[in-house]
Amino acid sequence: MSPAVGGRVLVPFRQQRLSGIVVDLHDRKPSVVTKNVVSVLDASPVLDEQLMRLGKWIADYYLAPLGEVFRTMLPLSAEFRRAITYRITDQGQLALHLGGATGSSARARRTPDEQLAEFRVLDYLVNREDPVRENSLRSATRVSRAVLSGMVRKKWIEREDVSGARDAARVVKVAVLLCASEHETQASAGEGTRSVDSQNNGVTGVPARRAKLNANQQALVDMLTSSDGRADVDDLNALDVPRSTLSTLVKRGLVQIIEEAAEFHVSRMKARPSPFGFEFNAPQKQALQRIQDAMVTRKFGGILLHGVTGSGKTAVYLAAMRTVLEQGRSAILLVPEIGLTPTVAADLHQVFGDEVAILHSALTNQERAEQWHRIKRGEARMVVGTRSAIFAPVSDLALIIVDEEQDSSYKQEETPRYHARDVAVMRAKMADAVVVLGSATPSLESYDNGKKNKYALIELPDRVEQRPLPEVELIDMKLEFQETGQEQVISRKLAEEIRERLERNEQVMILLNRRGYSPVALCRTCGKTLECQNCAIALTHHKRARKMECHYCGYTASVPEKCGHCGSEFVYFIGTGSEKLEELLRGMFPTARIGRLDRDTVRGKEDFERTLAALNERELDLLVGTQMIAKGHDVHGVTLVGVVGADIALGLPDFRAAERTFQLLTQVAGRAGRGQTPGKVVLQTYFPDHYAVQYAARHDFLGFYEKELRFRSWMHYPPYSALANVLVRSDRLNEVLRWSGVLGKWFEKTRHEGVRVLGPAAAPILRLKRDYRYHFVLKSPSREKLNTLLRSMLTYAATQKIPRTQVIVDVDALWLM
Ligand SMILES: [Zn+2]
Ligand SMILES: [Zn+2]
Repeated sequence: MSPAVGGRVLVPFRQQRLSGIVVDLHDRKPSVVTKNVVSVLDASPVLDEQLMRLGKWIADYYLAPLGEVFRTMLPLSAEFRRAITYRITDQGQLALHLGGATGSSARARRTPDEQLAEFRVLDYLVNREDPVRENSLRSATRVSRAVLSGMVRKKWIEREDVSGARDAARVVKVAVLLCASEHETQASAGEGTRSVDSQNNGVTGVPARRAKLNANQQALVDMLTSSDGRADVDDLNALDVPRSTLSTLVKRGLVQIIEEAAEFHVSRMKARPSPFGFEFNAPQKQALQRIQDAMVTRKFGGILLHGVTGSGKTAVYLAAMRTVLEQGRSAILLVPEIGLTPTVAADLHQVFGDEVAILHSALTNQERAEQWHRIKRGEARMVVGTRSAIFAPVSDLALIIVDEEQDSSYKQEETPRYHARDVAVMRAKMADAVVVLGSATPSLESYDNGKKNKYALIELPDRVEQRPLPEVELIDMKLEFQETGQEQVISRKLAEEIRERLERNEQVMILLNRRGYSPVALCRTCGKTLECQNCAIALTHHKRARKMECHYCGYTASVPEKCGHCGSEFVYFIGTGSEKLEELLRGMFPTARIGRLDRDTVRGKEDFERTLAALNERELDLLVGTQMIAKGHDVHGVTLVGVVGADIALGLPDFRAAERTFQLLTQVAGRAGRGQTPGKVVLQTYFPDHYAVQYAARHDFLGFYEKELRFRSWMHYPPYSALANVLVRSDRLNEVLRWSGVLGKWFEKTRHEGVRVLGPAAAPILRLKRDYRYHFVLKSPSREKLNTLLRSMLTYAATQKIPRTQVIVDVDALWLM
């Protein structure tokens, strides 16, 4: 097989084999020493010419290594098997027989434990003809990699990397109950399975004629009988029965194990009846028409679809995608992380049938690879997924839709630090396709592009069926404190409104964007707070779980009885998180059925859906939660939304704080009054005069946008300049200080290059996950100049021996923390 540009090859890299992408084929003599390719994995490209171009653009724009970009673009790691094997050498045999492994002949000083470990390895390998896999060897002998490496150095054993391609098709093992007639039918798997009529043949009776089955064996036979005589071996192994039971049944000829190609079935998910209404109002019809018109031209077109909450954007997306499908072309719909629940997937399947591929984060690597191949083969031309679905290998791409384009889950917070929305725009340009960015609260960057006619701006100003936007009442919590004389979590007004709704059997949502019980544990004697061991962050008290937890690195500690600094017993837990809010509400409304949605109650997408379903079915009266409750759910019974402490973010040193607060408030307010009864929002705040709060209360996106743009303009922040965050990190403070000093001096010399450099300064979170962090913020009206400067900075850092992994360049950073 000869290699192809855009195809994968297996190459030697130091002592290993790695898979890589062919970027060029040529016959010029290279100036460096080269090695041979081990094998060619793909005869035809896995990345077509367009995706290769897109990958190179990302590498260049975000200053990311091209290999990392390609790896992100290809979800095919499941097809590559990492394997290292060992075999014993003649010297190893000698060492074993002469007692070298346990005796004193080895030169290096070894502890008895090490000698024993080496002996176990040699003893295990000596009787085996074939090389042994590292995993088997290590689990059989319980030795560390270090011991194996030591033995390789002594030439007692040989290591070989035999990594390579795995069979593309995934197989599952299926246990089949055999038709047990007098002459012991060895029914071939395929026919045998279907012809088993367990009930009539009395399969369970048959074994009795031979030897009696024990309880475990009977349990397996019963399980198989009840599932038409067949079941996945994995499912059987999950039963509370020893694994040997199944093999005993196989030996006795009662069960046969066969292998079948596994397939991912979207249709296995449950579907709701008629999920989407396609009866459009006039603005929806116009929006659809404009998207369709843009696609006809087969040229790049950018559209910003700004629709208030509840205006029916999703229906417009799906109708546009149906047009694409009818034309035999392809479309990609990107949704935020939280938006892609199993129910949404089932709904989409109902609209598009098997033409849809759904890529969400709950897929295993293998399922992801299968979906990728379905798309590549052209079997699925409608692709719906989170961030990385933007790299789906569709052909003849007509339309990309980015739903909730302002959502921060589109930005990858590790290398390559791309923003899927911006990549979507670039991909659409390269494919001469149409890109639609949709939102109730567009990012300032996108709205500015809309205003400047870089994108066509389509507005959906009304809710469907003329439902009104909810009335918003602001509660000044400073006044509440003065009037009641104590710190309140739930104001008197909000309590009263909740009570009214509960009496009328209406539903209530309360947002508090902070999980846990109390966010701070403070010593009243010495004034110190209990901090994470790895981060400069206060630990949050989780009452039910009885622990202190860091929400940044996951570190946990026991709940302190005494101050760790001074030993005082006066440790107070201060502030309120969603767990405490739930407890408070249970106390205030003891008969209400109360649920909570946050990362502590939601372990998987199923939990999330279960709670939302309970709300929809009116099994809950009151739902408390973090921003998880704010996004996109269409629950008709909610008539009151209470907002508690949503302005915490306004105190953060981040220029996007106002934008984020405005977006969150607008989103959560949008949950109220989506049914027949109009909704109301009670917004508690310590910043009642802040413009983000004021404009959100008035549903005035334009007002907020104008004001915020003026601020961005004065401060030279996006969209008025390109911005990058350069973070220097190390677990040693002196190293960080030295490196950031070196880079700071270098940046100073480049002041005339049209890029403003702020810093070095301690990052707002000075220590995170054991690393100390200093940073620079770079701003420039010229993206090209910014990019050039960053590139030469990285080159300079390399000459100063600052490790590449310790300097993080984040172009278009969303967070400066
Ligand atoms: Zn203390
Ligand atoms: Zn931490």
